[in-house]
Amino acid sequence: LVSHETCPKPTVIRLGEVEIGNGCKPVIIAGPCSVESEEQTLRIARQVKEGGAKLFRGGAFKPRTSPYSFQGLGKAGLKILEKVRSETGLLIVTEATDSENLKLVEASTDIIQIGARNMQNYSLLRRAGQTKKPVILKRGLSATIEELLMAAEYIMAEGNTQVILCERGIRTFSDNTRFTLDLSAILSVKAASHLPIIVDPSHAAGRRDYVIPLSRAAIATGADGLIVEVHSDPPSALSDGAQSLYPEQFCQLVKEVEYLNMLG
Ligand code: PEP
Ligand code: MN
Repeated sequence: LVSHETCPKPTVIRLGEVEIGNGCKPVIIAGPCSVESEEQTLRIARQVKEGGAKLFRGGAFKPRTSPYSFQGLGKAGLKILEKVRSETGLLIVTEATDSENLKLVEASTDIIQIGARNMQNYSLLRRAGQTKKPVILKRGLSATIEELLMAAEYIMAEGNTQVILCERGIRTFSDNTRFTLDLSAILSVKAASHLPIIVDPSHAAGRRDYVIPLSRAAIATGADGLIVEVHSDPPSALSDGAQSLYPEQFCQLVKEVEYLNMLG
C-alpha cells in the first residue's frame, strides 16, 4: 500500500485549508516539546500562529529516556491542546505512546503522532490504523527506510491511508549533533512511496542554532514540511529546551521557507 505500484499518484493529506504532500506549500508544524501549562502552551501557540504556523505541536504523553524526567501532563495536557485549537484555530498534532492513550489522543487531536521510539510498536501502529485521523509516523532511531515504510504499511493495512512520514535524525557514529539528519531519506521515500514526508530538524540537531540551516536543506531537498520545536522561554523548558527556537527565530524560519518555496 505504501508503494507507487498500488497508488501511482502522490498522496495529499487535507485538513481544512492545509494540504500536505505532492509539492503543496510546505506545511510548518510548530510548538513546544511538551505541554507544560495552559499559560505556557497558549502563549507559544499565539506566537507560532503569528509567525505563520497552521498546525501546533505539543506532547501531553512524553516518551522520555529517563523515567524520572517530566513525563507530560497526560489527559490534562490534551485539554490544554483543545483549548489551543478553540482559541487560536490552530490544528493540533500530539503523540500517542501506547494503545491506552491513543484513544484519548484520537479524541483530542487533528493529527496523531507516533514517535521514533514506537515506530515498530506494531500493536500501536495497528490501532492507529483503525482511527480516522492522519498519522505522523516518525522514523525509528536506527530504522532503515524499508523498515519505516513497512511500519507505515501496518497503519495502512488497517484502513488508514493518511500517513505522513517524518525524518527526525538517526543514530550514527557522529556525536556532534544529537542525531544525524538523513536528508537522502526524503529522496528515498519519494522514490519508493507516494506518501508525504516531513522533516524534524529539532530532534536531529539537538541545538537551536542548527535548526534553520537544516530546515533550509530539508526544504531544498523536497520535504513536504517541517515539524519544529519552539518555546517562549527555552532555558526554562521542561524538555528539549536546547533545541527549541525562540519565537523570533521561528518567524525567521517561516520567512526563509517561503522564500525557498518561491524559488521553486
Ligand atoms: C517529539 O516530537 O517531541 C519526540 C519525542 O520526537 P521523537 O519521537 O522523534 O524523538
Ligand atoms: Mn522533543
